[in-house]
Amino acid sequence: MTPTAKTQHARIYSATHVTFPDISYKAFVYPGDEEALAALKAIPGAGQVLTWIQENFTEELMYLQNNQQMIRASYHNYASLYKMVERCCDILSLSVPELYITTNPTMNAYTMGQRRTSIVLHSELIESMTLDELSFVIGHELGHIKCAHGLYRSLGDLLIRYWELVVSMLPVPGLALLRVPLLLAYWEWYRRAELTCDRAGLLCVQDAAAGMAGLAKLAGKVRGYEDEFNSDSARNQAEASKEVKNKLVVLVAILEAAQNTHPFVPSRLKQLDAFAKSDQYRTLMAGQYEKDALGQHEGGARIICECGLKLNAKLSFCPECGRTVGQTEAAAAAAAGDGGTKPAEEGSKLDKLKSMGGFFKR
Ligand SMILES: [Zn+2]
Ligand SMILES: [Zn+2]
Repeated sequence: MTPTAKTQHARIYSATHVTFPDISYKAFVYPGDEEALAALKAIPGAGQVLTWIQENFTEELMYLQNNQQMIRASYHNYASLYKMVERCCDILSLSVPELYITTNPTMNAYTMGQRRTSIVLHSELIESMTLDELSFVIGHELGHIKCAHGLYRSLGDLLIRYWELVVSMLPVPGLALLRVPLLLAYWEWYRRAELTCDRAGLLCVQDAAAGMAGLAKLAGKVRGYEDEFNSDSARNQAEASKEVKNKLVVLVAILEAAQNTHPFVPSRLKQLDAFAKSDQYRTLMAGQYEKDALGQHEGGARIICECGLKLNAKLSFCPECGRTVGQTEAAAAAAAGDGGTKPAEEGSKLDKLKSMGGFFKR
């Protein structure tokens, strides 16, 4: 990974930075994330309906809109940002998603898709964050892909943005009444999913202070006053939510927070701090963690081997028949539609995958 001048001082390029070959999301998932997701998965037909919508509509719509309204990063366009995402993918053992940059004055970053995945970074976020803070945010977004959150996050979109349309199109008696209970179940999971992804962000930057500063900037950041920001004090705000006992107030706050892209920053700061000080984090950094060598459980692109097996696109060999399945540069660029062939001096994507050694080998 060759950083360009703009990003070469990011910690993630340090030779001492730990990478996590073949890491499974289970190695860092926040307690209760999977259980809360299981409750959503138990809704009859939800998984099938959401998958159908994603594969037949949302992913293409998002691809079209992103390419119409934003600038796609590649080796030839905002190369330093693209390489930063690529490096973060190396650290978290993930295939590289599409990356889009958009001119937008709000501090935001988000991830979309289940198989065709993309990360969008707002210009304000890139301009306001240090390189390390940015790598924390990128790691957080990659966490969503690692955990395959895309599918059930689209349930949130249905409930929050398109609910009236859904109710008008599906004349099922009583459907409208399901919104609040579904939204509460969704929120219960989403909150924990965010905590899981903050952990992925920390695994990427490997510096708790940078992670917390990046997180804090999403909630309340004033340019020029960074040296006065106190993360301990901000973390203590999390206690304020415990003081409020009125259930209606809590419900309204949840419904409103559901429209907010980065809610509950003080409690996230608190949880991130606890994780950074935990034995679990120390063990992970020492290289002991649960693996998912085939990347079966994570989101991201899939390729079909000649033997017919559907494989995670990051693999270089088929575990079933042993064939080499890495794409040629031209095929990879054509498949990605990005014109983003890696400059020759840096070697092909396949060479890179092979040299990393962490991916599946026979
Ligand atoms: Zn998130
Ligand atoms: Zn095969």
